[in-house]
Amino acid sequence: MKILLASEFTHLCTGYSAYYKQLAEAFTEAGHDVAEIASYGDANDPLHVKYANECKWDIYLNIPHNLDKAATAEYDRREEATGDAKFGSWMFEQIALKEKPDIVIGLRDYWYDRYITESPFHDCFTSILSPTVDTYPQKADWLDAFNSADYITTYNEWSENWLKEQYHCRNLKPFISPGFEQRPLIDRNTAREALSIPKDIKLIGTVMRNQGRKKFPDLFNAVSSLDDTYVYCHSAYPDKGWDLPSLFLQYGLQNKVYMSYVCKNCHDFSCELYSQRSAKCKKCGGKIETASPIKGVTQDDLRNIYSALDLYVQPHNSEGFGIPTIEAAMCGIRVVSTNFSAQEDVIKKINAIPINVIAIDSEMRTLCSRAILDVEHLRKILADKSTYEFNRAEVARQASRYYTTDLCKKSWVNLVESVELKKSWEKPIEIKPIPEFNEMHALTNPEYVLYCITKVAQQPRFIGSYTHLLFLDSLNGGSLLVTDKKSRSCKQSNKNR
Ligand SMILES: [Zn+2]
Repeated sequence: MKILLASEFTHLCTGYSAYYKQLAEAFTEAGHDVAEIASYGDANDPLHVKYANECKWDIYLNIPHNLDKAATAEYDRREEATGDAKFGSWMFEQIALKEKPDIVIGLRDYWYDRYITESPFHDCFTSILSPTVDTYPQKADWLDAFNSADYITTYNEWSENWLKEQYHCRNLKPFISPGFEQRPLIDRNTAREALSIPKDIKLIGTVMRNQGRKKFPDLFNAVSSLDDTYVYCHSAYPDKGWDLPSLFLQYGLQNKVYMSYVCKNCHDFSCELYSQRSAKCKKCGGKIETASPIKGVTQDDLRNIYSALDLYVQPHNSEGFGIPTIEAAMCGIRVVSTNFSAQEDVIKKINAIPINVIAIDSEMRTLCSRAILDVEHLRKILADKSTYEFNRAEVARQASRYYTTDLCKKSWVNLVESVELKKSWEKPIEIKPIPEFNEMHALTNPEYVLYCITKVAQQPRFIGSYTHLLFLDSLNGGSLLVTDKKSRSCKQSNKNR
């Protein structure tokens, strides 16, 4: 069977990348053919090209080579139009046509993988999505996308149970959590030596993308009242999220925050106290930047980072899973995390310390519920000596009971081998003529939208979908809201159209 992964490049060190790699390995070991559309995989980066060439499965690097002008122009056009070229949408149809996959899998948020179910080739392959359901309620267009996939699974029980309350779930399969490799623990002092971090300081760490829902200010606020405590902040700055240096200043932590840096020139990883944006590489003198999904650190470096900590903290307002909390626990580090959404499951399973939630807030953009964590409770947890008294081997043992790679791989292989395949790549293509414009001229708004779906797009599966109703409502209302920032006006009445 041929399986296409709409992935985050398996060579990288992000949580998604590690999960996709497990799937690619599991399917390859089970004798299936695997191909990967690698988001953040860069054809200009020799290391990326080398990995792709030597890999056991086929890899399509998503960022085109600078000299390939046609591909670069198409990438830019799609990114400008829909914002999802960076997730692989711009080359998806081309690759699908070449690979003719039986199954296409996406494991990310709905807006990353939407192009899979919206593809005109969706009738030819079976789609399986594992979206990160990180809160409730889910927006109508997200649920519509989940419904349009052939199969849906989730990262954890909390998300599965929540989805059961949200739609009919005809395509919902039991949850599968990512697995984590159990490896020998790294001693705290050995890890600190490797990172050049003093052994006598107390170090609280977090590994989070720089996004609004990760509550960096709450962590810095709570740490600011502790004496002689440092923070390891494995995140990216500058990024679209928090202004981290201003937060360091605001909470008096300007000389107490370590960050992970990668050299743009020689790719060397180092860990430094945050000082300025133009820091220099000690090896080659090149410019170093904070680690990001594209220029990240290796799994071994990341294990050193976790192992050097005295405590791991994940302050968030909602999580679809929270991979770093389990990675930290597998390294034997006790975890503290907001007791909300998917982390409610994880906290119980890895015996983490829950941070109380004081209120549930509604997010304007999505209408989703987000937790407001109790900073005073976090402050108390961090100030309590007993928080830091734990047995590393016991923490790791507990985490490994629920999140093994074996269980994850077996569950995914069972899932792909049990789903119904469409096997319609070889069916002859029926090319229907596009109707003349004057045929549509006299139609009412409802008739017009229906006509566009059935005769122009020739995709009757969209009848009754969120997109169908959105376009009809927009046509009736006279404008189409495209995003928060953009709106395109369209002519209102049938006669004017
Ligand atoms: Zn360097």
